[in-house]
Amino acid sequence: MTEPHVLPASLATLRNYVDGAFVATGRTFDNLSPLTGRLLAKVHEADPALVDRAVQAARRALEGPWGRTSVDQRAAMLHRVADVIERRFDEFVAAEVADTGRPVQQARTLDVARAIANLRTFADLGRAAHGEHFETRTAAGDELMNYTLRKPLGVVASISPWNLPILSMTWKAAPALICGNTLVVKPSEETPSSATLLAEAFDEAGIPPGVFNLVHGFGAGSAGEAMTRHPGVDAITFTGESRTGTAVMKAAAEDLKEVSLELGGKNAAIVFADCDFDAAVEGVVRSSFANAGQVCLCSERVYVERPIFERFVAAMKARTEALKIGWPGEPGVDMGSLISRKHREKVLAYCRLALAEGATLVTGGAVPQFGDARDDGAFMQPTIWTGLPDSARCVREEVFGPVCHIAPFDTEDEVLRRANDTDYGLAGVVWTRDLARAHRVARRFDTGIVWVNTWYLRDLRTPFGGTGRSGLGREGGRWSLDFYSTTSNICVKL
Ligand code: NAD
Repeated sequence: MTEPHVLPASLATLRNYVDGAFVATGRTFDNLSPLTGRLLAKVHEADPALVDRAVQAARRALEGPWGRTSVDQRAAMLHRVADVIERRFDEFVAAEVADTGRPVQQARTLDVARAIANLRTFADLGRAAHGEHFETRTAAGDELMNYTLRKPLGVVASISPWNLPILSMTWKAAPALICGNTLVVKPSEETPSSATLLAEAFDEAGIPPGVFNLVHGFGAGSAGEAMTRHPGVDAITFTGESRTGTAVMKAAAEDLKEVSLELGGKNAAIVFADCDFDAAVEGVVRSSFANAGQVCLCSERVYVERPIFERFVAAMKARTEALKIGWPGEPGVDMGSLISRKHREKVLAYCRLALAEGATLVTGGAVPQFGDARDDGAFMQPTIWTGLPDSARCVREEVFGPVCHIAPFDTEDEVLRRANDTDYGLAGVVWTRDLARAHRVARRFDTGIVWVNTWYLRDLRTPFGGTGRSGLGREGGRWSLDFYSTTSNICVKL
């Protein structure tokens, strides 16, 4: 058995990064390992005064040399930050694994790899962006030329969740910076380590002081709320729970800050009888249990066409029970721990609720017993239910853990009505070999994203975001550039 990952010693004390310097504060909180429950780090919590210093530093940086950089210079800087992450790749992986308990392989191939891709992709997309021009002749014969300029919004506050820490943070930081903004970022209190390494990478890459500022802390009554209420912040990009999104938007409304909200999901996967059966089983196991079900895009609701329902449930059960749960570094491990014991308690409470609501437990629903040190970790069995009515809370509320409910359906219209009967609208998945049906169903899904015969394959140039309680706005590709910039039209009489 491979021992759980430990953090590099340099990350035993985590400080804020404000105006180009690492800053300790008078108050710390504990970063606990989800794998062992032991202390990983003492984290210096930013108070409102430090958040204010970070915002002021970001404002000054906008007015300093950063404000006069060309997009080429900013792109070169982002590539330099990506170079540092590549050089310190293993430290980033260790930080991400220690904070989240996820498999090392996932941290290597998804989280840290995507952080690098985010920085490089938006550097290049920013360089390729261009304005528009319109020529007009007035009735009086005047010739006019209009052209548009993209300008930065100003100081952007970015608040991230714990489920994909370094991926989420760079997904926001890279486009914000390439557009010429400056940043104050806050990682989740559960995952402060990789964000601190990211601040080190910005420092090492020689990014001017004040351009990238990091504050640590919690949400309400702490650094998060101080950021959203600060009058010097021009825009907020937030990823997290839908309820928190509402609080963020209310705070932003006070002085009309721009907001982008990437929120929760209760996503549906629809499996038609004509699908590639094995690929669909593999795909739905992945979309339900990847990252221990802690991805906003995970399928917690699975609808299977009746002729293959029983066979599909049996195959899902067999495949799910074969998933290997364990230490992040164990060879072949599929699932690490959940983010914390507290979060596992929430997921287990839904497991009890599902039974009370009349579910049949197909597999899982409990804490695995290893009989060794892993019993101290926040591990959880992947769980499948059937038999719940569509009105059940476990079918309507986001659990955000390794759980899914599988229900049979008879017709295309019926399944679309049921899949769309939700407060959320983030991602849908369709499994079918019928090309016309794939397109028909995909366009009738009330979600921002649909995958056909796959899940969570991302081209960073495409729009990402949700409808309803899944969020506001789109990021990705030119949609990110649109959010992180404002447009000026210049009209010239020729
Ligand atoms: P959360 O809302 O509890 O916290 C997210 C962040 O907001 C944290 O940094 C937290 O400290 C901060 N925060 C909390 N209250 C705040 C407040 N009042 N003001 C300002 N900041 C505040 O979410 P979480 O538990 O960290 O993350 C899980 C949630 O995130 C799930 O609902 C998941 O679906 C969602 N998520 C969505 C996407 C997406 O792209 N749509 C991606 C990842 C995660």
